[in-house]
Amino acid sequence: MLNVELQDATPHSPHPTAQSFPSFDAHNPPDAKLIDACVHCGFCLSTCPSYRVIGKEMDSPRGRIYLMDGVNEDQIPLSPAIVQHFDSCLGCLACVTTCPSGVRYDKLIEATRPQVERNHARSLPDKLLRRLIFSTFPYPDRLRLLLRPLGLYQKSGLQKMVRSLGFLKQLSPQLAAMEAMLPKISPQAFQDPLPAVIPAQGKQRYRVGLLLGCVQRLFNPEVNDATVRVLTANGCEVVIPQAQGCCGALTHHQGQEAQTQTLARQLIDSFADTSLDAIIINASGCGHSLKEYGSILDDDPHYREQAATFASKVKDVQEFLADVGLTAKLSPLQDEPLTLVYQDACHMLHGQKISVQPRQLLKQIPGVRLREPIDAALCCGSAGVYNILQPDVAEELGRQKVENLLHTGASLIASANIGCFVQISRHLQLQGKTVPVLHPMQLLDYSIQGIKLDAVGS
Ligand code: SF4
Ligand code: SF4
Repeated sequence: MLNVELQDATPHSPHPTAQSFPSFDAHNPPDAKLIDACVHCGFCLSTCPSYRVIGKEMDSPRGRIYLMDGVNEDQIPLSPAIVQHFDSCLGCLACVTTCPSGVRYDKLIEATRPQVERNHARSLPDKLLRRLIFSTFPYPDRLRLLLRPLGLYQKSGLQKMVRSLGFLKQLSPQLAAMEAMLPKISPQAFQDPLPAVIPAQGKQRYRVGLLLGCVQRLFNPEVNDATVRVLTANGCEVVIPQAQGCCGALTHHQGQEAQTQTLARQLIDSFADTSLDAIIINASGCGHSLKEYGSILDDDPHYREQAATFASKVKDVQEFLADVGLTAKLSPLQDEPLTLVYQDACHMLHGQKISVQPRQLLKQIPGVRLREPIDAALCCGSAGVYNILQPDVAEELGRQKVENLLHTGASLIASANIGCFVQISRHLQLQGKTVPVLHPMQLLDYSIQGIKLDAVGS
């Protein structure tokens, strides 16, 4: 048992009161062996974004590991106060990178979240909000149904009025955060125009599958178009299974175990019989979960093997291209040198250990000068739907991240994750800045096509 000072993790009372709280159940509780690997050194604290903002031990990796242990051993109740400490974790995995003892906090929080969802009774507003998110975000067709009224809401001036009155924040800070995150809805959001197979340009080197993502294909479809053009220009035939849905990353990161498994099975089925060299993804949160399919479906004897095979083929597009090498000719994006800063997404950097490859690719574009921000490894606060569920902490992290990116003096921000893109774009707007945020695939695409940034308004 860890020995850390606690302020609000009151142990179970030996004399039960009217209010009693549940514990973890027997289905995959956090592994005691992984918990015991923590030697309480505290090295992880300074790199933990929730600890940075909230400043409490129980909102740090070490504190949460203590709580997991206490709940496991039935010494700490799974009360709303304790759940809030688990909920405040962004799942950014910076602590996994930092920990000198190799503590697998990723596995621990992954086991804890479904326990919380099964055993903790959330308040009605929290439950309804989560139901709304999990029943719409992972389903592009359902999201599309909402787009028309939302588009009308944006165009009619109602959005402006709601924002200026500020009553939504009084009503529900989470709903207000969701509203604030709503990107501009373009006509492209209503269709999936990419065909099932797109041939390689010139000699074919590889045959790869592409995941479209559920939120990205609606709110930033240009990234998928650019990814296809970059892949085909570099000798890849691109296969896009038309029946593909969500990969389950969003639900996985929030402990919705059964839904995640269903989405994972459906995705695996949609890629059946495609004979691919690699399965490509261009959003880091999705990439991290796809690589975890082996463990997500480990309990399923019918899918276990297929899931592991599927996961072994998954590559982030930057990882893949850096590995196979670019063959397409690259041109400068502007006449003068272009200073840009690459923003590391947590599930890319900490979750998949990919940091060198995006920089290598960007540096191949003639005239690009890459800058590094301070606190590059600190989360921007997006973290899937964290910026909706925990808006206060996310606000502060978004503010800090944008300030750090701007301090580099870069004239463009490269970001390879849809969540970070939305969060950073919004905070740039809040700070009155017009620095463009583009996916590295968009930059490579322009460079391959010989398109200058000023011609596309970036
Ligand atoms: S750095 Fe690792 S061992 Fe040290 S307190 Fe954090 S999780 Fe525990
Ligand atoms: S995953 Fe991120 S937010 Fe959660 S404990 Fe680790 S460093 Fe902190």
